[in-house]
Amino acid sequence: MRQSILFPKTARTAPKDEVSRNAQLLEQAGYISKLFAGVYSYLPLGFRVLRKIEKIIREEMDLAGGQELFMPALHPLENYQQTGRADIDVLFHLEMANGKKLVLGQSHEEVIVPLFKKYIQSYKDLPRHLYQIQTKFRNELRAKSGILRGREFMMKDLYSFHTTEEDLLKYYDRMRQAYERIFMRAGIGHLTHYTFASGGTFSEFSHEFQTITSAGEDTIHVCEKCGVAINDELITKYQACPECNGRTFAKHTAIEVGNIFPLKTKFSEKFDLSYTSESGTKQLVVMGCYGIGLGRLMGAVVEVRHDDKGIYWPRQLAPFQVHLVNLNQESGATADTVYNQLLDQHIEVLYDDRDESAGVKFGDADLIGIPIRLVISKKTAQQVELSHRGTRQGSLMSVSSAIKEIERHYV
Ligand code: ATP
Ligand code: MG
Repeated sequence: MRQSILFPKTARTAPKDEVSRNAQLLEQAGYISKLFAGVYSYLPLGFRVLRKIEKIIREEMDLAGGQELFMPALHPLENYQQTGRADIDVLFHLEMANGKKLVLGQSHEEVIVPLFKKYIQSYKDLPRHLYQIQTKFRNELRAKSGILRGREFMMKDLYSFHTTEEDLLKYYDRMRQAYERIFMRAGIGHLTHYTFASGGTFSEFSHEFQTITSAGEDTIHVCEKCGVAINDELITKYQACPECNGRTFAKHTAIEVGNIFPLKTKFSEKFDLSYTSESGTKQLVVMGCYGIGLGRLMGAVVEVRHDDKGIYWPRQLAPFQVHLVNLNQESGATADTVYNQLLDQHIEVLYDDRDESAGVKFGDADLIGIPIRLVISKKTAQQVELSHRGTRQGSLMSVSSAIKEIERHYV
């Protein structure tokens, strides 16, 4: 992509009406644009990042036996009356022309449970694991944290259906591992802790994946021995770490990037979702649900991976792998050739071909945060300077060595 035509341009300063660092940086760099509090457009750069997050999540869910589907965002209110959730405060309500009451989907238990019930009869139809990546709507009271807390946001939600609690817990552990891989690949694995939490209104307990950042809204206590954490709301109940029995904890502010719930039969009961067991008796289906907010994850990555100049993306989430920066008109033809060579190798490259000063170009490159930088100037002639976001000195090398280096380490 040529930066001369990239939509939009970066802004000189951070937007005045944002208080969160993730929104300030992402808006200034041209990744997102606010429509109103908690509701954002993802611009071309931001949408590339979001699609990469989606790809990682999809790969890990498929690997863990998930089957992807896509459910509606318009839900009949009566399904929520059936589960006792019609009055929860995050629901956005609306009405059809004929008066039928609807809500916008804030989660999909009320849709997937009756859907699943249509198709299963026997223990032979279980287990199944279904997921989607879809927009959720929540009337959040406060939406001041940029894309960490949206009123409209993308979520991956997986629902698992089992014959027994034992089978659910086995799958629960598999999901835990899949989540750990997702956060590792997203570059925040080292700061993300598996956390014991309460189950809210519909489960006795749940587990969160909490990423340590000052932008977080939660407090967690991380076991110094094994790294598993306990949410502050539960800490008085625990004498020792439930994972390893460790007794010393470090207190941190953190943001919940993912959440897994053993729903057991809470929703199956409401919709009478049952199956016929091997011995011919009728049993309730045992369920789990597993969520990750895609925008929340992207915002958390920005919160933990920025400096005073801008963002530094992990390789797997960066909108482009290489930022090719040409500094002089005279080296334009060489830079065009390098750009085409990189494209030929299927390397994702943002090419700064603009007629701007070196200062402006480097400032924008630091703000946008692409991991590898290739600089071409009159001085370097047929050679390019390869450096990394955040480091000043690079090394001079031929174009072919630079491409080899990039392919070897980064693509
Ligand atoms: P929180 O306590 O932060 O409000 P939650 O418990 O309501 O989160 P879940 O209903 O379990 O969250 O949703 C699953 C995941 O969706 C969360 O772990 C988080 O990553 C994401 N998420 C939840 N609410 C939002 C939001 N308003 N904006 C963006 N992502 C969200
Ligand atoms: Mg919430």
